[in-house]
Amino acid sequence: MIVTDRLKEECGVFGIYNHPEASALVALGLHALQHRGQEACGINSFDGKNFFLIKRRGLVGDNFTDPKIIQQLKGHTAIGHNRYSTTGAPLIRNIQPFFADLHTGGLGIAHNGNLTNAIGIREKMVQEGAIFQSTSDTETLVQLIAKSKRMKTIDKIIDAVFQVHGGYALTIMTNKELVGVRDPYGIRPLILGKLKDSYILSSETCALDIIGADFIREIENGEIVIIDENGIESIKPFPKVKPRPCVFEYVYFSRPDSIVNGKAVHQYRKLLGVELSKELNINADLVSAVPDSGIPAAIGYSNQSGIPYDMGIIRNHYVGRTFIEPTQQIRQLGVKLKHNPNKEIIKNKKIILVDDSIVRGTTSKKIVDMLYNSGAKEIHLCISSPPIKYPDYYGIDTPNVKDLIAANNSIEDIKKIIGVDTLQFLSIDGLYRALGQEKRDNKNPQFTDHCFTGEYPVQPLDQLNQFEKNSQLSLLSNIRI
Ligand code: AMP
Repeated sequence: MIVTDRLKEECGVFGIYNHPEASALVALGLHALQHRGQEACGINSFDGKNFFLIKRRGLVGDNFTDPKIIQQLKGHTAIGHNRYSTTGAPLIRNIQPFFADLHTGGLGIAHNGNLTNAIGIREKMVQEGAIFQSTSDTETLVQLIAKSKRMKTIDKIIDAVFQVHGGYALTIMTNKELVGVRDPYGIRPLILGKLKDSYILSSETCALDIIGADFIREIENGEIVIIDENGIESIKPFPKVKPRPCVFEYVYFSRPDSIVNGKAVHQYRKLLGVELSKELNINADLVSAVPDSGIPAAIGYSNQSGIPYDMGIIRNHYVGRTFIEPTQQIRQLGVKLKHNPNKEIIKNKKIILVDDSIVRGTTSKKIVDMLYNSGAKEIHLCISSPPIKYPDYYGIDTPNVKDLIAANNSIEDIKKIIGVDTLQFLSIDGLYRALGQEKRDNKNPQFTDHCFTGEYPVQPLDQLNQFEKNSQLSLLSNIRI
């Protein structure tokens, strides 16, 4: 049976073309993108003759700060990947970038997202004799590229991406070029930057800041950029569709200092808090956040309501994101390790507690219990996004429907389970208002908001075909390398 960890990925990608210290800069870029994946990381470089590849479990800072490691990753072009997966054992062979020797030369690929028909394609290829080395959907793409009959690598890449569906942002390195690809809807983010004569591709702009590079623009939905010695070329081979970037990047995933549509994600999150405050009229002594992800919305809520903001919970920054822990038990432990009530501030207070989202409800329950135990008088839990009722298939990890608290309980029941005085979610229209629309345009929504609405712009084919549950595709799936 295939190990299902391949589907549960959210990742960060970064690539640089034409810099004498390419791999060092990729390491820095990945470090800035660490929030997008903390389980594993890898860098693939090219020095004009040879390709070099190092993949490691764990954080970039623990693996790619040693100059000896960076020196091994020679070359002027490099790509890197942060991997995030929450189910199944993290397998070394699933760590990216992936590298393949094609008859046109070497090819390295780093992928953020998830391909919704990769298992179906893989099954067919395996039946035809293909041998897969990993359980990752990205390998399906590599195999499609390798199998393409087209002569030029870039045409092979186009051939391959035409066959896959889903949300994807790719950085691909060949012996001639660095290529960036964003899926037809632009579900996953990808941006273009420049540092003197070097071009950069990155999941987010915060990774440009760390190396002092300039932000040029976002890669558009359905756009492929080819960066080589002649400069940069853009092609748009897909039939044109309206962009539907994933709204969850704004709600939770992106770093607050990353810029989207000319505005810091932090500003959008503050506006989510403003809208939330407009939708709830409750008297309280203070507004507090579940740090860090709830902070911007809490500030927005406080600004709008006039209720003072204070740090009722202190976060230990040396513990990773709650979700990253692979088992429910450890996740629960993680919450305790991570947050501590600031007792002096919350004692006898009526608190508006703001967080960005509720997924399983584990975090909220623990935190609310902690606050009551520390003397909070009332807790009004405000969530700056609508209830998550549907899973994601485009590369953000969300659990099975059965584990999504809002998919299985009414708001009133969730309120009881968490044990709060009030539970308020932001409405879907409020979410759109914060992002600059009057309300959700149901005929033509500006984002993909499937986690909240169940409306998927790309059919989750593998899921519908139940490949997930009953697959016999991988010969290697029981081997842990
Ligand atoms: P839970 O305890 O399962 O309800 O998790 C909710 C917390 O996880 C929220 O505080 C969010 O900040 C965070 N979160 C929401 N979605 C994700 C995700 N896809 N990956 C990691 N963390 C998330």
